[in-house]
Amino acid sequence: MKDHFKIRAMPLLLLLAAGLPAHAEWVRRVTDGIMGTRITVELWSDDREKADQAIDAVLDEMRHVDETMSTYKPTSEVSLVNAGAAAAPMHITKELFDLLTTAKEYSVITDGAFDITYASVGYLYDFRKHVRPDETQIDKALPAVDYRHLLLDPKQQTVRFSQQGVRIDLGGIAKGYSVDRGIDVLKARGITRAYVSAGGDSRIIGDRFGKPWMVGIRDPRKEAGEVITRIPLVDAAISTSGDYERYFEEDGVRYHHIIDPRTGHSASKVRSATIIGPYAIRTDGLSKTAFVLGPDEAMKIYNQLDDIDAIIVKLDGTVIYSKGIERAR
Ligand code: ADP
Ligand code: MG
Repeated sequence: MKDHFKIRAMPLLLLLAAGLPAHAEWVRRVTDGIMGTRITVELWSDDREKADQAIDAVLDEMRHVDETMSTYKPTSEVSLVNAGAAAAPMHITKELFDLLTTAKEYSVITDGAFDITYASVGYLYDFRKHVRPDETQIDKALPAVDYRHLLLDPKQQTVRFSQQGVRIDLGGIAKGYSVDRGIDVLKARGITRAYVSAGGDSRIIGDRFGKPWMVGIRDPRKEAGEVITRIPLVDAAISTSGDYERYFEEDGVRYHHIIDPRTGHSASKVRSATIIGPYAIRTDGLSKTAFVLGPDEAMKIYNQLDDIDAIIVKLDGTVIYSKGIERAR
């Protein structure tokens, strides 16, 4: 106990000796409405004005990501691609090209469970309005779901769909990506201790002065405040996907917003999946896999990835952990 105190007190004494400005503090802001979700930014700063400007810059960057990627906005770059890429190759920004390249990479890693062309069927669902396609509609749309239909030409920086009916939606990585962009914005401003989250996707830089950040993992069948466990994290990203996020029930069946690219149906093989890794785009992209492939097959994939850990809540409520966490427990 004493040793512990000594270790923690040391950096503080050094800081005081260095003559830091008297008023350094944690600055936290919570904003609703960007990408249809809640954004939280928290950072350590000795200058309140600079801290507020940094948070403004993070939110601006997230608005930009939303403007580029939202399929709800007909003028977004992704909407333009959806409208035109079946007819001819389309030149796109480097940012979107890189995202599509990363998305295809995640499709390969996850055995096709993550697939942004899920939207070729996915657009027929409206979870807010409780709308879902019937079997005939699904059968008709399903052949267009396959990440291999997405043809990327790095030299020309173009995208083309190999057939009619293909649509993409980056909703499975957009929030994680925007969190990474937010962290980049903060790092560029010299901030070394911060937390950025967008809905279920978060990333942390630095620690809390000798202590890790404690991130709670929600219990999928309990109130939002109740957690199954808290994970200590330093310099890491964490994403949780849950079947409680956006769903409706009909005749006792739960329809929710992760789609199995192979069937076009809502993928319900787990209650929630939490992924820990270096980047939020990666943890976001990988969190869908457990729903599609099921807990065991997904855990096999997670365990093969050196930079990834996972916590899965199975349908019966039991929790399984990746090798890295099992070792630490
Ligand atoms: P959130 O949108 O709250 O971050 P998730 O991280 O669980 O929730 O991502 C769910 C989103 O992923 C869906 O709303 C949809 O946009 C997208 N999606 C659904 N199924 C797939 C899939 N099989 N592959 C890639 N993206 C998917
Ligand atoms: Mg997400």
